[in-house]
Amino acid sequence: MRLPDYHTHTVRCGHASGSPAAYIETARAAGLLALGVADHLPLLPHHDPELSMEICELDEYVSEVRQLKEAFPGFVVLGIEADYRPDTVSDVRSLLESQPFDYVIGSVHHLGEWGFDDPRQIGGYDSRDIDDVWVDYLELVGEAAESGLFTILGHLDLVKKFGYRPSRILDAELDRVVKRIAQTGVVIEINTAGLHKPVQEAYPSADILRRLRAAGVAITFGSDAHRPEEVGRDFAHAVDLARAAGYEEFAILEPDPAGGRARVGLQALHAETPPEDRRGVAR
Ligand SMILES: [Zn+2]
Ligand SMILES: [Zn+2]
Repeated sequence: MRLPDYHTHTVRCGHASGSPAAYIETARAAGLLALGVADHLPLLPHHDPELSMEICELDEYVSEVRQLKEAFPGFVVLGIEADYRPDTVSDVRSLLESQPFDYVIGSVHHLGEWGFDDPRQIGGYDSRDIDDVWVDYLELVGEAAESGLFTILGHLDLVKKFGYRPSRILDAELDRVVKRIAQTGVVIEINTAGLHKPVQEAYPSADILRRLRAAGVAITFGSDAHRPEEVGRDFAHAVDLARAAGYEEFAILEPDPAGGRARVGLQALHAETPPEDRRGVAR
């Protein structure tokens, strides 16, 4: 089963290793369908050298990946992962429009000034009500979907990363955010990085995937690799999750020769991975 990996980083962000070429080499060796380089867009409003490249490095990033696109036509796509923060929407929009990105992954990493998935700021959970954190987070995800800035939403339930779970099933809130997503046509990634975080579960959960499927939301795949050897990691498990949720297709990105954003196409999802590569789905 050949899958694309649309969520990978590079050494430029300050917390990953490897050049785009190294990620592409791993992806080719692993027999992936496509490799999307989607490093972190310069973080606004304040730069943090451990979270992203600087604005002055963006041109170089884009030209490096575009050269690789030319070297591996149809295999490499130029992406970026942008933070959704209500206070920076117009600046992020201008930055995104200044470059010929094939696609943009939209991610919520902040609640106000709090970087809730940043290990340096994990103490922030101690002083907050976890149910409120989840509700506020899901509201921002809905806003991110509706902003129209993004092709894919990244790690949809990232707020579970450190294992902080709500005290009740957030049925109404989850249904509401899934409905908002479905109305926008944005694609959701199955992001396998969560399997290697304290929560030990892919993003989003099997429950959320079933809701997305029922609402007709398209999915695709991302490893969120921060080292070249993590490209395509645990994708056999991701396919199992997708199929368990009822998915029979996944989204692929078809670059626009005219330089606009990629078109989203669909491909059939087959389950043909060897059993020894698999993790249990019932988590
Ligand atoms: Zn990162
Ligand atoms: Zn992210």
